[in-house]
Amino acid sequence: MSNSARLAARDSVALMAGYHSPQLDVAVRLNTNESPTPPPEGWADEVRAALADIDWHRYPDRGAHELRAALARHERVAPEQVFAANGSNEVLQCLLLAFGGPGRKALAFEPTYALHSHIAGLTATEMVSGERNGDFTLDADQAIAMVGRHRPAVTFLCSPNNPTGMVEPPDLAMRLLEHVSALPGILLVDEAYGQFNPHSAVGEVDESRPLAVSRTYSKTWSMAAARLGYLVAPTWVVAELDKVALPYHLDAFKQVAGRLALAYEDDMKARVAELVAERERLAAGLDSLPVRQWPSGANFILFRPDSGDGDGVWQRLVDRSVLVRNCSSWPRLAGCLRVTVGTPAENDAFLAALREVL
Ligand code: PMP
Repeated sequence: MSNSARLAARDSVALMAGYHSPQLDVAVRLNTNESPTPPPEGWADEVRAALADIDWHRYPDRGAHELRAALARHERVAPEQVFAANGSNEVLQCLLLAFGGPGRKALAFEPTYALHSHIAGLTATEMVSGERNGDFTLDADQAIAMVGRHRPAVTFLCSPNNPTGMVEPPDLAMRLLEHVSALPGILLVDEAYGQFNPHSAVGEVDESRPLAVSRTYSKTWSMAAARLGYLVAPTWVVAELDKVALPYHLDAFKQVAGRLALAYEDDMKARVAELVAERERLAAGLDSLPVRQWPSGANFILFRPDSGDGDGVWQRLVDRSVLVRNCSSWPRLAGCLRVTVGTPAENDAFLAALREVL
């Protein structure tokens, strides 16, 4: 068959670069914001025991009722206000499948998590990009003006923001929500890194407001391999997401794994506290080097070598078997690198390699 006979994907897909997060075989991997330590042994034992009770020849509970009920208790909301999916990425995809799509817009404030605009493209939702200030803070008045001008169906606010690490002041989300609400639209607060920061918007979720908050098991719960995330939102939002998720999208294993993890909240909080302490130690280490860094409320730090040579520094770190995320070719992030907070030994290795390189 000649090439000319092949059907091309629709334009918005064919022209996409796809999402790339390169992995290399290195000793110190600090590039994808995972937890550096596994979940508690007790959890792993319980999951192994629970596997024996799964009816593998039957479809799983389609509504993931036990998992959602456990999440609802954990977040102090009603089970009907919880939606769960294969990572918070799938949560976001379901949100745009239901509330975005052709003829509708989504708004995000760049630089932010690349998947917000990527998923908008996949779901044929027109993406509108708002700009942050040069220091990556968000001007509330400008953000509100964008909402009024473009009337997006879905407005994304990522806090702590990836890749900057910066936290939005809580009143900014509430001010935006007021304007989003009047459109009407939905405000999605992406809290993938929410537990690394004392304030959460989950407490503001209420039936009377179009506020949805997404969270994940991938970071603070040390369960990136399980691919599980969830949304806390008014019941009318959750009901629509239930329609667009494929039947039985959450397998029996991950429903059990996610439910059992929630009993280990104290362990999770202890891991978070250790990572926050390590983040502050990393920040102090970066302070003594010729780099600019941005204040982080997450488990990573964005920094830019004063030389501006992000690519060169990234490569010389790789040569020393340390992998960080190279953001230097991303729009608005020229020369920037992002380092995930690792174990104390990994952070030491990173700081030593960076000191040598610079
Ligand atoms: N939101 C943000 C801001 C993220 O950084 C990530 C992961 N990098 C996600 C959502 C998606 O996480 P997951 O699909 O693993 O839940």
